[in-house]
Amino acid sequence: MKKVCKNCKRVFETMSCKQNYCTVSCRNNYHYYRHQQARVEYQRKFRRTGEYAVDKVQCLICGKWYHHPMSHCWQTHKVLSKEYKIMFGFDITKSQLSKKVQDVMSENTLARFDSIEANLLRHRDKTCFKKGHQVRYTRSAETAERLRHQFDDYHKAVKEGRIKWHYNTK
Ligand SMILES: [Zn+2]
Ligand SMILES: [Zn+2]
Repeated sequence: MKKVCKNCKRVFETMSCKQNYCTVSCRNNYHYYRHQQARVEYQRKFRRTGEYAVDKVQCLICGKWYHHPMSHCWQTHKVLSKEYKIMFGFDITKSQLSKKVQDVMSENTLARFDSIEANLLRHRDKTCFKKGHQVRYTRSAETAERLRHQFDDYHKAVKEGRIKWHYNTK
């Protein structure tokens, strides 16, 4: 018998009276689309994106609140996280995340810390500090404060023999 596919509206030949789609992928596409539509509608109704909640971080460009404001910044304002942090005087290496996301990320990082450290050391030429290295941006007060502490801690640790000297000496 001849039937019209529910998804692509093509006429197809079938033996079954239950078959409503010309192919399996057509059926899957139809259901996936329906699912997506339902999801978007649900979000529009119930999700309060950008509204204030405890633990959210504010985007200083538009004033809305997010758990992950840097990804919002790129998606809506086309501002990279580095540019944003320079713009508002934040520390470049410090994350702008809510506590919830921070915990998840630090957990992930600690889980694969060995490989991260190994990679940093393998590409030592690029990642380690070099004497006379030019910084291409003006350091914020927060960054300068962090670097000062980091430097002191590092030297202390080297002196006490807790860590090895990692600077690039080439
Ligand atoms: Zn079809
Ligand atoms: Zn924004």
